[in-house]
Amino acid sequence: MKNIIILCFATLLVLSKQDQEASKESVQYYQSLLKYFLKNSSKWEKPKDSRKFFKLKNEQDEAVNHGHYHFIIVGAGVAGSVLANRLTESGKFQVLLLEAGGPENDFTDVPGFAPYLARSDFNWGYKTIPQNNSCLDLEDPGYHGKDGPLSVEYVKYQPEVLKIFLEAAKQRGQNILDYNGQNQNGYSTFQSMTRNGKRCSANKAFIKPAMNRENLELLYRALGVKIFIRNKTAFRIEFIREGKKYRATASKEVIISGGTINSP
Ligand SMILES: Cc1cc2nc3c(=O)[nH]c(=O)nc-3n(C[C@H](O)[C@H](O)[C@H](O)COP(=O)(O)OP(=O)(O)OC[C@H]3O[C@@H](n4cnc5c(N)ncnc54)[C@H](O)[C@@H]3O)c2cc1C
Repeated sequence: MKNIIILCFATLLVLSKQDQEASKESVQYYQSLLKYFLKNSSKWEKPKDSRKFFKLKNEQDEAVNHGHYHFIIVGAGVAGSVLANRLTESGKFQVLLLEAGGPENDFTDVPGFAPYLARSDFNWGYKTIPQNNSCLDLEDPGYHGKDGPLSVEYVKYQPEVLKIFLEAAKQRGQNILDYNGQNQNGYSTFQSMTRNGKRCSANKAFIKPAMNRENLELLYRALGVKIFIRNKTAFRIEFIREGKKYRATASKEVIISGGTINSP
Protein backbone atom coordinates (compact mmCIF):
# COMPACT_ATOMS: atom_id res chain seq x y z
CA MET A 1 0.00 0.00 0.00
CA LYS A 2 2.85 2.32 0.96
CA ASN A 3 4.42 1.67 -2.44
CA ILE A 4 1.19 2.45 -4.23
CA ILE A 5 0.91 5.79 -2.48
CA ILE A 6 4.50 6.70 -3.26
CA LEU A 7 3.96 5.73 -6.88
CA CYS A 8 0.79 7.77 -7.08
CA PHE A 9 2.49 10.85 -5.70
CA ALA A 10 5.28 10.34 -8.20
CA THR A 11 2.63 10.19 -10.93
CA LEU A 12 1.07 13.39 -9.70
CA LEU A 13 4.44 15.04 -9.61
CA VAL A 14 4.95 14.03 -13.22
CA LEU A 15 1.50 15.27 -14.08
CA SER A 16 2.01 18.62 -12.48
CA LYS A 17 5.42 19.07 -14.05
CA GLN A 18 4.09 17.89 -17.41
CA ASP A 19 1.82 20.86 -17.65
CA GLN A 20 3.49 23.82 -16.02
CA GLU A 21 0.26 25.74 -16.34
CA ALA A 22 -1.77 23.14 -14.47
CA SER A 23 -3.65 25.08 -11.83
CA LYS A 24 -3.51 24.24 -8.15
CA GLU A 25 -7.22 23.40 -8.38
CA SER A 26 -6.70 20.82 -11.09
CA VAL A 27 -3.84 19.17 -9.16
CA GLN A 28 -6.10 19.06 -6.08
CA TYR A 29 -8.91 17.63 -8.21
CA TYR A 30 -6.72 14.80 -9.50
CA GLN A 31 -5.38 14.16 -6.00
CA SER A 32 -8.92 13.74 -4.69
CA LEU A 33 -9.80 11.47 -7.61
CA LEU A 34 -6.78 9.36 -6.77
CA LYS A 35 -7.69 9.20 -3.09
CA TYR A 36 -11.23 8.13 -3.91
CA PHE A 37 -9.97 5.53 -6.33
CA LEU A 38 -7.40 4.12 -3.91
CA LYS A 39 -10.03 3.87 -1.19
CA ASN A 40 -12.25 1.80 -3.47
CA SER A 41 -9.38 -0.26 -4.82
CA SER A 42 -8.42 -1.42 -1.32
CA LYS A 43 -11.89 -2.99 -1.04
CA TRP A 44 -11.89 -4.37 -4.57
CA GLU A 45 -12.23 -8.10 -5.07
CA LYS A 46 -11.47 -9.89 -8.28
CA PRO A 47 -14.83 -10.66 -9.93
CA LYS A 48 -15.66 -14.34 -10.24
CA ASP A 49 -18.29 -13.88 -12.94
CA SER A 50 -20.35 -11.11 -14.50
CA ARG A 51 -23.59 -12.08 -12.74
CA LYS A 52 -22.74 -9.69 -9.91
CA PHE A 53 -23.11 -6.78 -12.34
CA PHE A 54 -25.80 -8.17 -14.63
CA LYS A 55 -28.32 -9.77 -12.30
CA LEU A 56 -31.78 -10.21 -13.81
CA LYS A 57 -34.63 -8.76 -11.75
CA ASN A 58 -36.82 -11.62 -12.85
CA GLU A 59 -35.25 -14.70 -14.40
CA GLN A 60 -38.59 -15.83 -15.88
CA ASP A 61 -39.26 -12.62 -17.86
CA GLU A 62 -39.21 -12.90 -21.64
CA ALA A 63 -36.61 -10.83 -23.48
CA VAL A 64 -37.95 -7.40 -24.49
CA ASN A 65 -37.65 -6.57 -28.19
CA HIS A 66 -35.05 -3.81 -28.58
CA GLY A 67 -35.42 -3.47 -32.33
CA HIS A 68 -33.91 -4.22 -35.69
CA TYR A 69 -30.55 -3.05 -37.06
CA HIS A 70 -28.28 -3.70 -40.01
CA PHE A 71 -25.32 -4.43 -37.76
CA ILE A 72 -25.04 -5.29 -34.09
CA ILE A 73 -21.58 -4.96 -32.54
CA VAL A 74 -20.93 -6.58 -29.17
CA GLY A 75 -18.02 -4.90 -27.38
CA ALA A 76 -16.95 -1.27 -27.76
CA GLY A 77 -13.23 -1.82 -27.26
CA VAL A 78 -10.56 -1.15 -29.83
CA ALA A 79 -12.04 -3.22 -32.67
CA GLY A 80 -15.70 -2.45 -31.89
CA SER A 81 -15.10 1.31 -31.78
CA VAL A 82 -13.40 1.41 -35.16
CA LEU A 83 -16.11 -0.77 -36.71
CA ALA A 84 -18.92 1.31 -35.23
CA ASN A 85 -17.36 4.46 -36.65
CA ARG A 86 -16.72 3.05 -40.11
CA LEU A 87 -20.07 1.31 -40.45
CA THR A 88 -22.02 4.45 -39.57
CA GLU A 89 -19.91 6.76 -41.77
CA SER A 90 -22.06 6.49 -44.90
CA GLY A 91 -25.33 6.92 -43.01
CA LYS A 92 -26.77 3.89 -44.82
CA PHE A 93 -26.69 1.44 -41.93
CA GLN A 94 -28.30 1.36 -38.51
CA VAL A 95 -25.80 0.10 -35.94
CA LEU A 96 -26.34 -1.03 -32.37
CA LEU A 97 -23.18 -1.08 -30.26
CA LEU A 98 -23.33 -2.93 -26.95
CA GLU A 99 -20.71 -2.37 -24.27
CA ALA A 100 -20.62 -4.24 -20.97
CA GLY A 101 -18.59 -1.50 -19.29
CA GLY A 102 -19.36 2.15 -18.63
CA PRO A 103 -18.00 5.37 -20.12
CA GLU A 104 -14.48 6.66 -19.55
CA ASN A 105 -13.87 9.27 -16.89
CA ASP A 106 -11.25 11.76 -15.71
CA PHE A 107 -9.38 9.00 -13.91
CA THR A 108 -9.05 6.81 -16.98
CA ASP A 109 -7.81 9.85 -18.94
CA VAL A 110 -4.56 9.95 -16.99
CA PRO A 111 -2.03 7.58 -18.60
CA GLY A 112 -0.04 7.19 -15.37
CA PHE A 113 -3.10 5.93 -13.48
CA ALA A 114 -3.60 2.98 -15.84
CA PRO A 115 -1.99 0.37 -13.52
CA TYR A 116 -4.55 1.21 -10.80
CA LEU A 117 -7.45 0.33 -13.09
CA ALA A 118 -6.43 -3.29 -12.55
CA ARG A 119 -7.99 -3.05 -9.08
CA SER A 120 -11.29 -1.64 -10.27
CA ASP A 121 -14.44 -2.68 -12.09
CA PHE A 122 -12.64 -1.92 -15.35
CA ASN A 123 -10.95 -5.31 -14.85
CA TRP A 124 -12.85 -8.42 -15.95
CA GLY A 125 -10.61 -10.46 -13.63
CA TYR A 126 -9.38 -12.93 -16.23
CA LYS A 127 -6.10 -14.75 -15.83
CA THR A 128 -4.41 -16.34 -18.82
CA ILE A 129 -1.67 -18.92 -19.19
CA PRO A 130 1.63 -18.07 -20.96
CA GLN A 131 1.21 -17.94 -24.76
CA ASN A 132 3.77 -19.24 -27.24
CA ASN A 133 2.31 -17.71 -30.37
CA SER A 134 1.35 -14.18 -29.45
CA CYS A 135 2.80 -10.92 -30.80
CA LEU A 136 4.35 -12.68 -33.81
CA ASP A 137 3.36 -9.87 -36.14
CA LEU A 138 5.78 -7.50 -34.43
CA GLU A 139 8.36 -8.77 -36.92
CA ASP A 140 6.54 -6.95 -39.67
CA PRO A 141 6.44 -3.41 -38.35
CA GLY A 142 4.21 -0.72 -39.79
CA TYR A 143 4.77 2.99 -39.70
CA HIS A 144 2.97 5.88 -38.12
CA GLY A 145 0.34 7.77 -40.01
CA LYS A 146 0.26 11.51 -39.38
CA ASP A 147 -3.37 12.52 -39.57
CA GLY A 148 -5.38 9.57 -38.29
CA PRO A 149 -7.96 9.87 -35.51
CA LEU A 150 -5.91 7.89 -32.97
CA SER A 151 -3.03 9.92 -31.64
CA VAL A 152 0.33 8.48 -30.59
CA GLU A 153 2.87 10.94 -29.21
CA TYR A 154 6.07 11.11 -27.25
CA VAL A 155 5.48 11.49 -23.54
CA LYS A 156 5.74 15.17 -22.79
CA TYR A 157 7.59 14.96 -19.51
CA GLN A 158 11.22 14.59 -20.51
CA PRO A 159 13.50 14.94 -17.49
CA GLU A 160 17.08 16.10 -17.96
CA VAL A 161 18.41 12.64 -17.11
CA LEU A 162 16.62 11.25 -20.16
CA LYS A 163 18.47 13.61 -22.49
CA ILE A 164 21.77 12.66 -20.86
CA PHE A 165 20.93 8.98 -21.21
CA LEU A 166 20.09 9.32 -24.91
CA GLU A 167 23.21 11.41 -25.52
CA ALA A 168 25.29 8.66 -23.89
CA ALA A 169 23.66 6.04 -26.13
CA LYS A 170 24.42 8.19 -29.18
CA GLN A 171 28.05 8.56 -28.16
CA ARG A 172 28.29 4.78 -27.93
CA GLY A 173 27.11 4.56 -31.55
CA GLN A 174 23.57 3.42 -30.78
CA ASN A 175 20.59 4.42 -32.92
CA ILE A 176 18.16 6.99 -31.58
CA LEU A 177 14.97 6.08 -33.38
CA ASP A 178 11.22 5.85 -33.58
CA TYR A 179 10.65 2.36 -32.19
CA ASN A 180 7.27 2.11 -33.90
CA GLY A 181 8.96 2.68 -37.24
CA GLN A 182 10.89 0.43 -39.60
CA ASN A 183 13.80 -0.29 -37.24
CA GLN A 184 13.11 -1.12 -33.65
CA ASN A 185 16.55 -1.81 -32.20
CA GLY A 186 17.80 1.31 -30.56
CA TYR A 187 17.01 3.99 -28.05
CA SER A 188 14.07 6.33 -27.82
CA THR A 189 11.90 8.24 -25.44
CA PHE A 190 8.59 6.63 -24.60
CA GLN A 191 5.58 6.88 -26.92
CA SER A 192 2.04 6.62 -25.68
CA MET A 193 -1.48 6.61 -27.09
CA THR A 194 -2.28 10.08 -25.80
CA ARG A 195 -3.47 13.40 -27.20
CA ASN A 196 -1.95 16.43 -25.48
CA GLY A 197 -1.01 14.24 -22.54
CA LYS A 198 -4.47 12.71 -21.99
CA ARG A 199 -5.17 9.09 -22.88
CA CYS A 200 -6.43 8.87 -26.44
CA SER A 201 -8.57 5.75 -26.38
CA ALA A 202 -10.42 4.07 -29.24
CA ASN A 203 -13.51 5.61 -27.69
CA LYS A 204 -12.15 9.14 -28.03
CA ALA A 205 -10.78 8.52 -31.50
CA PHE A 206 -13.68 6.64 -33.05
CA ILE A 207 -16.84 6.71 -30.93
CA LYS A 208 -16.98 10.32 -29.77
CA PRO A 209 -16.80 11.72 -33.32
CA ALA A 210 -19.60 9.34 -34.36
CA MET A 211 -21.89 9.86 -31.36
CA ASN A 212 -24.01 12.51 -33.06
CA ARG A 213 -24.80 10.19 -35.97
CA GLU A 214 -28.44 9.18 -35.82
CA ASN A 215 -27.67 5.72 -37.14
CA LEU A 216 -25.44 4.78 -34.16
CA GLU A 217 -26.94 3.62 -30.89
CA LEU A 218 -24.47 2.90 -28.10
CA LEU A 219 -25.62 1.15 -24.95
CA TYR A 220 -23.29 1.08 -21.95
CA ARG A 221 -23.59 -1.59 -19.26
CA ALA A 222 -25.18 -3.95 -21.76
CA LEU A 223 -23.83 -7.49 -21.63
CA GLY A 224 -24.32 -9.66 -24.71
CA VAL A 225 -25.28 -13.11 -23.41
CA LYS A 226 -26.63 -15.12 -26.33
CA ILE A 227 -26.14 -15.22 -30.09
CA PHE A 228 -28.87 -16.77 -32.22
CA ILE A 229 -27.72 -18.55 -35.36
CA ARG A 230 -29.87 -19.59 -38.34
CA ASN A 231 -28.42 -21.30 -41.42
CA LYS A 232 -24.92 -20.76 -40.01
CA THR A 233 -25.59 -17.00 -39.80
CA ALA A 234 -25.87 -15.00 -36.58
CA PHE A 235 -29.04 -12.91 -36.77
CA ARG A 236 -30.03 -12.03 -33.23
CA ILE A 237 -28.42 -11.16 -29.94
CA GLU A 238 -29.74 -11.31 -26.44
CA PHE A 239 -28.35 -8.90 -23.87
CA ILE A 240 -28.86 -7.89 -20.25
CA ARG A 241 -29.11 -4.29 -19.15
CA GLU A 242 -30.37 -2.75 -15.93
CA GLY A 243 -31.70 -6.09 -14.73
CA LYS A 244 -33.70 -6.81 -17.89
CA LYS A 245 -33.18 -9.13 -20.80
CA TYR A 246 -33.45 -7.70 -24.34
CA ARG A 247 -33.19 -9.05 -27.86
CA ALA A 248 -32.21 -7.25 -31.05
CA THR A 249 -31.92 -8.53 -34.61
CA ALA A 250 -29.47 -7.72 -37.38
CA SER A 251 -30.18 -8.09 -41.10
CA LYS A 252 -26.52 -7.93 -42.12
CA GLU A 253 -24.14 -9.01 -39.36
CA VAL A 254 -23.72 -9.61 -35.68
CA ILE A 255 -20.11 -8.70 -34.93
CA ILE A 256 -18.50 -10.06 -31.79
CA SER A 257 -15.65 -7.82 -30.67
CA GLY A 258 -15.58 -8.62 -26.98
CA GLY A 259 -11.81 -9.04 -26.77
CA THR A 260 -9.54 -12.06 -26.86
CA ILE A 261 -11.26 -13.99 -24.10
CA ASN A 262 -14.93 -13.05 -24.45
CA SER A 263 -15.18 -13.18 -28.25
CA PRO A 264 -14.61 -16.90 -28.89
C1 LIG B 1 -2.72 -4.05 -19.49
C2 LIG B 1 -2.74 -4.02 -21.01
C3 LIG B 1 -1.89 -3.14 -21.66
C4 LIG B 1 -1.88 -3.09 -23.06
N1 LIG B 1 -1.07 -2.20 -23.68
C5 LIG B 1 -1.07 -2.12 -25.03
C6 LIG B 1 -0.26 -1.16 -25.71
O1 LIG B 1 0.47 -0.39 -25.09
N2 LIG B 1 -0.29 -1.12 -27.06
C7 LIG B 1 -1.11 -1.97 -27.77
O2 LIG B 1 -1.11 -1.88 -29.00
N3 LIG B 1 -1.89 -2.89 -27.15
C8 LIG B 1 -1.89 -2.98 -25.82
N4 LIG B 1 -2.67 -3.91 -25.18
C9 LIG B 1 -3.45 -4.82 -26.00
C10 LIG B 1 -4.74 -4.16 -26.48
O3 LIG B 1 -5.41 -3.60 -25.38
C11 LIG B 1 -5.63 -5.23 -27.15
O4 LIG B 1 -4.92 -5.83 -28.20
C12 LIG B 1 -6.89 -4.60 -27.71
O5 LIG B 1 -7.59 -3.90 -26.72
C13 LIG B 1 -7.79 -5.69 -28.29
O6 LIG B 1 -8.90 -5.05 -28.85
P1 LIG B 1 -10.31 -5.76 -28.88
O7 LIG B 1 -11.28 -4.81 -29.50
O8 LIG B 1 -10.18 -7.12 -29.46
O9 LIG B 1 -10.69 -5.98 -27.34
P2 LIG B 1 -10.88 -4.92 -26.19
O10 LIG B 1 -10.25 -3.62 -26.52
O11 LIG B 1 -10.50 -5.63 -24.93
O12 LIG B 1 -12.45 -4.66 -26.20
C14 LIG B 1 -13.40 -5.62 -25.84
C15 LIG B 1 -14.61 -4.86 -25.31
O13 LIG B 1 -15.74 -5.72 -25.31
C16 LIG B 1 -16.45 -5.57 -24.09
N5 LIG B 1 -17.14 -6.83 -23.88
C17 LIG B 1 -16.59 -8.04 -23.63
N6 LIG B 1 -17.56 -8.98 -23.58
C18 LIG B 1 -18.74 -8.34 -23.78
C19 LIG B 1 -20.10 -8.79 -23.82
N7 LIG B 1 -20.42 -10.06 -23.67
N8 LIG B 1 -21.07 -7.86 -24.06
C20 LIG B 1 -20.74 -6.55 -24.22
N9 LIG B 1 -19.47 -6.08 -24.20
C21 LIG B 1 -18.47 -6.97 -23.97
C22 LIG B 1 -15.35 -5.27 -23.07
O14 LIG B 1 -15.89 -4.62 -21.93
C23 LIG B 1 -14.42 -4.38 -23.88
O15 LIG B 1 -14.77 -3.01 -23.78
C24 LIG B 1 -2.71 -3.97 -23.79
C25 LIG B 1 -3.56 -4.86 -23.11
C26 LIG B 1 -3.58 -4.88 -21.74
C27 LIG B 1 -4.51 -5.84 -21.01
